[in-house]
Amino acid sequence: MRSCDVAVIGLGLMGAAALEALLRRGVDAVGFDPLGPGADRGSSHGSCRIFRRFNFENPHYTALSDEALRGWTQLAQDGGRGLLIPCPVLEAGPKGCDIVRNSRQAAFHNGLEVPLLTGAEVNARFPAFRLPDDWDAVVQDGGAILLAQAALEALRAKAGAAGRITPSAVVALERHADHVLLRTADETVRANKVILAAGPWMSRFLPALAPILEVTRQTVGWFAPARPETVALGAFPIFILERSADDTVYGFPDFEGRGVKAAPHNHGPVVDADAWEPPASDAELRQVGDTLADLVPGAAGPVVERDVCLYTNTRPADRRPDAGEEFIVDRWPGSRLVVASACSGHGAKFAPAVGERLARLAVEAGYEAEPFFQLSRYAAFG
Ligand SMILES: Cc1cc2nc3c(=O)[nH]c(=O)nc-3n(C[C@H](O)[C@H](O)[C@H](O)COP(=O)(O)OP(=O)(O)OC[C@H]3O[C@@H](n4cnc5c(N)ncnc54)[C@H](O)[C@@H]3O)c2cc1C
Repeated sequence: MRSCDVAVIGLGLMGAAALEALLRRGVDAVGFDPLGPGADRGSSHGSCRIFRRFNFENPHYTALSDEALRGWTQLAQDGGRGLLIPCPVLEAGPKGCDIVRNSRQAAFHNGLEVPLLTGAEVNARFPAFRLPDDWDAVVQDGGAILLAQAALEALRAKAGAAGRITPSAVVALERHADHVLLRTADETVRANKVILAAGPWMSRFLPALAPILEVTRQTVGWFAPARPETVALGAFPIFILERSADDTVYGFPDFEGRGVKAAPHNHGPVVDADAWEPPASDAELRQVGDTLADLVPGAAGPVVERDVCLYTNTRPADRRPDAGEEFIVDRWPGSRLVVASACSGHGAKFAPAVGERLARLAVEAGYEAEPFFQLSRYAAFG
């Protein structure tokens, strides 16, 4: 029987980052995942994600963004391939909206006073937009387009080269007092510790997580822009437009020559991680198309490509104030398992920092992740 010190189940961005951090420390670690980069399942696939330094979800995430940026930069240097394309981030919404207030507060919390802009000022600076003149807006520096597939390849590179990736699903876990047994279709592996980073499949392994995780179908479209010159990289920001609490659309400059990638950030229908099918329908992309036509006419146009991806959303905690966007990065009580559910639609950018935490939770007995990542924020685990 093979054995290892730490086994990582699931090598999307989070598990791959954990495996990379473990191997960098010289830990005897092995990763399992039946999917490779380029597969269209789970949460990490596709060409790009938004990297934001200042996070409207939580001002404490700036430190995590900064740590992750150092990780991405190191990884890019090691692999000789860029992973982040610097790009400003525009956030906007009706006067007094949460997204602009919280984003500016996150910057302020970190010593930066970023000016409050009006929709009219944004329209003058970026001619693709037609925001209502009196909207609030902020343009944050420190943002970037994270090249998601390249990032996943980079995070897996060392492990793959060292034969540390087993391309199989783990079909059973047996927990013992002094070890854990993992079974795939072909073998049984004995591990001292296990990191579970199975994205939308997490509650298959730990059914007690099912009440606090919700997997949703998220549609994505690429739109052939009406005025290509206004949405080119350099002329156009990453944007997040919050029309109302349940109508938020985000998008990217046309940096690949594929059109403008745009998608709803509000949660789509709840689905089973295996029981969903691409592609996104016209009906599912209508709201995004309408938002572009109304507010970003330079980017509006026919849908030329489409995709579906899954968010794994954590529900609001019942033991501390929490909007429900925080991740779970913690040890599983009374076991040798470490769990990561780092999605809620905004986890990708943090992967190197989350991976570091997972590795430390597995190998450093005294280490704890930040309180807002801990399971004890839910009464069921308190
Ligand atoms: C449409 C969309 C847009 C997003 N936009 C952004 C953004 O702009 N910025 C941002 O920061 N974040 C964004 N996110 C969130 C981000 O992509 C996720 O936080 C991240 O991809 C989660 O990665 P993961 O490793 O937890 O999950 P996954 O990528 O789903 O990885 C889980 C892995 O576990 C494997 N697995 C499952 N079962 C088993 C098993 N039995 N045995 C072995 N392996 C198994 C799966 O094959 C899979 O590869 C977005 C997400 C989506 C869906």
